[in-house]
Order: sequence, then structure tokens, then C-alpha cells
Amino acid sequence: MRNSERTKVKLLLHSGVVGTEVAAMGWVRTKRGNKNVAFVALNDGSTIHNIQVVFDMTRFTEEQLKGVTTGACIAVKGLLVDSPGSGQRVEIQANYLEVLGEADATTYPLQKKGHSMEFLREIAHLRPRTNTFGAVLRIRHAMAYAIHKYFNDKGFFYIHSPIITGSDAEGAGAMFRVTTLDLDNLPRTEDGKIDWNEDFFGKEAKLTVSGQLEAELGALALSEVYTFGPTFRAENSNTPRHLAEFWMIEPEMAFYDIQDNMDLAEDFLKYLIRYALEHCADDLEFLNKMYDNELIDRLKFVIENPFERLPYTKAIEILEAANQKWEFPVFWGADLQSEHERYLVEKHFKKPVILTDYPKEIKAFYMKQNDDGKTVRAMDVLFPKIGEIIGGSQREEVYDKLLNRIHELHIPEKDVWWYLETRKFGSAPHSGFGLGFERLLLFVTGMTNIRDVIPFPRTPKNCEF
Ligand code: ATP
Ligand code: MN
Repeated sequence: MRNSERTKVKLLLHSGVVGTEVAAMGWVRTKRGNKNVAFVALNDGSTIHNIQVVFDMTRFTEEQLKGVTTGACIAVKGLLVDSPGSGQRVEIQANYLEVLGEADATTYPLQKKGHSMEFLREIAHLRPRTNTFGAVLRIRHAMAYAIHKYFNDKGFFYIHSPIITGSDAEGAGAMFRVTTLDLDNLPRTEDGKIDWNEDFFGKEAKLTVSGQLEAELGALALSEVYTFGPTFRAENSNTPRHLAEFWMIEPEMAFYDIQDNMDLAEDFLKYLIRYALEHCADDLEFLNKMYDNELIDRLKFVIENPFERLPYTKAIEILEAANQKWEFPVFWGADLQSEHERYLVEKHFKKPVILTDYPKEIKAFYMKQNDDGKTVRAMDVLFPKIGEIIGGSQREEVYDKLLNRIHELHIPEKDVWWYLETRKFGSAPHSGFGLGFERLLLFVTGMTNIRDVIPFPRTPKNCEF
């Protein structure tokens, strides 16, 4: 049977015409029945729902159906008929069967339902065949599409920032090195240091931690741009919210101040969540039923309510007044930890929060300095269950101020000369932010571990598949 003959299960269930001959291909979820009839639930990944295929055993032999076991891949043809059973509109009355790929019943790992998420991570090559990961992967796709649609509709341009970078100044985290040098026989300079001149790029190269600096160059020419690509952090943070390889969306806009930046971030997040509710209803209902009964209500709540906006200093006052035992101490100047962020969001304001004007010591060199000399125009968006989902800022566009900060932080000017030049030639006020794609997916799917919203997670000591 050829692919051109088949109709996807989603289409059959939704708009297949009763009384017509149809064909489907997919993987067997379950088979049950007796010696007169067999019922097979078939799924091809186009939807969370299976189509029921009914085999009348007067037309098929036991032998023919032997290969139709949980996990096997089959092709069927038959008549689409009204389904007498509840739960589905139509079913296929099979008159043709081809087993494309058998799945041995004693060794196929996904025999029964209800495997732990930990076990499923160990079989990440097969977990897309579960209802849960099918749902997560379809939602992941829908969100990626919605991101491009949102920006395209607003006239933003998609900029491809490099994945390999020679700049050490991105400052967002520890970096992975990229090299072709022979590690067993490293070239040395006269004073015994590694001679990076001998390396592939003639200098040290790393995997990027952020596309922001390059996005800024784009914004200062095309006004409104965004990047959407993989980023890498070599931190050894083994948390449910950190990956060593994750995807980030980084819009960067000329002429936006921090208010415009916050407005965009809030509108963008609400758009994406609304898009998921409208286009991923089946998958969200499944996740809501199986994992988190409050998921859909939480998504609706976020789009219906304005985010709370307040300065970091106010947030510290609230946290100091809270009657809480903190694992990490709270004081002005402290970097907020997830426990603090979640207290503000879940206990105090009970809605998403945007914190602004952080102490300059805990934020990056490029953030616009406030007149108080102590704070910068940073903005972090904090979400229920997640903590920080977006980090952004208005950028320092004044050449002298940026240069001073670079000197204060001992960032070598030779690493950022090109960045500095944008402030020398036609500088403009501008702003931007980074949304962690997997943090967004944690929120939208209700999954609790970031390893379960990316097909193949990379974390410390884990690079299988
Ligand atoms: P955190 O404090 O949560 O470690 P960060 O402040 O280091 O994050 P930024 O450098 O501001 O993160 O990155 C922008 C966004 O990228 C964050 O708001 C978050 O959504 C996401 N992000 C950052 N680090 C990771 C990571 N290791 N894994 C997945 N997403 C991440
Ligand atoms: Mn941040």
C-alpha cells in the first residue's frame, strides 16, 4: 500500500465520509476481541485520538492477525462506517491488512500504560509513541509555528544568529568549547599556554549561550527582529528547569523602551497561550485529565489577567516581610531564586509578575543604567510553577556608559569592539528579551520536568540518543 492512498487518522475522525473506502497506516496501541472479531486502536501521531479498526474474522485468519500486536506498524484499507461504540464518530471495517513492522510482544517496552516519566526518558527513542509525548510534541510544534506567525504578522524579521561564537562576552552562563585540536597533543605557546592560533578558527570558539548581541545588530538595521535557535549552557545545574541545550526566542527592537518591551512580552505570551488553547485543545484536554486538573484553568487565567509589574526593590520588601523560611537569604542585592520568584507569583500576587530595575551587579553589562547609579532597566517575567520564563532589558545605547561598564567588569574591549561600534554609529534606544522555549512548554503542557518537553534532553552526564 502506498502513502498516497492513506488518509491521516485526524482527518478520518474529523471529516472522513461514512460509506467510502479509506486507507490508514499507523501503530497499534491495543488489540482486543474474540474469535469472531478483533478491535484494533490505531494511532498515526496526527492526533491524540486513535481510530478503531474492526477485523471481521470471517474475512481474516488468525495467522494474518498474529503480527498485529501492541507497537506493530500496520496498513489497513476498509469501509468507513458509523461507530456504534461511544468515544468515536467513525471506525474502519477492514478488508485489507498489511503488517509493515512487527513488534515482539515480550520485548517491546511500551506494552502497558502508566510508565513513569523517568523510565520513558530512558527510552526517548520510543517515547514519542506514547499519548503523553505525542501530545507534548504536537504542542511543541504548534508553539514554534505560533512564534513565527506572531512575529511575522507584526513585521519582525527572523535573524539567524550563529551557534558557534568567538565572543566570550555574552555573559549568560558557562560555555561549551568548540575545538578540533588534538586533546592528547595540544599545541603550546612559548609560555606553555594552549596555542589557540592553531585551532580551527584561529582563536577560541564556544557554543553560544544567547543570540542577543547579534540580534541587537539586526535590530539596529531592521528595527524589529527575533532569533529562535538552540543555545547552550555548561552549568552543572541539575534542576527540573535547566537544560544544557535549550531553545530560546529572542526578539530585539529598536526604539522600544522598557515599557514597550514589557508590553510586547506580555502580549506575546498571552498570544501563544491563546493559540495553544485554540489549536491544541485535544492534547491539552488529555494532559489536563492525566496530569494536572488545573492546567486549562491556569492557561485561561493567565490570558485573562494583566501581569503585575513592580520594581525589584519592592519585591525584596515583600519577600522580607513574608513569614517564610528561605533556603537562600533575601536582601537587597540578592539574585532571586526560584523559591522567591514562585512565592511572589503563587502566594503573593497569584498571577504572573514582571520585575524591573534590578541591581546592576546581578545583571549583564549591556543593560541600560538607571539614574540612581544602582539599578538597571532589566525585566524578568515570572510565571506560576516555573519562576523565570523571560529575562530581558532595555539596552544601554550610550557609548560612554556602556564602555565604562565594560571596563568595570574587565571585559576585554577586543571581544566586543563590533558591539561597541553600534553605539558609536547611529545608536538608538532599543530593548529585547529571551524566552526559554522549554520553560514556555513546561507552562503550556503542565509537565513538571523540562526533560519531558524536548525530544532528546541534554543535561549533565546525559547525552544519550
Ligand atoms: P535562570 O536564572 O532560571 O537560570 P537565567 O537568568 O540564567 O535563568 P537568561 O540568561 O535570562 O536565564 O535566559 C533567558 C531565558 O532562557 C530564561 O528566562 C529562561 O526562560 C531560559 N533559560 C535560561 N537558562 C536555561 C536553561 N539552562 N534551560 C532552559 N531554559 C533556560
Ligand atoms: Mn535571566
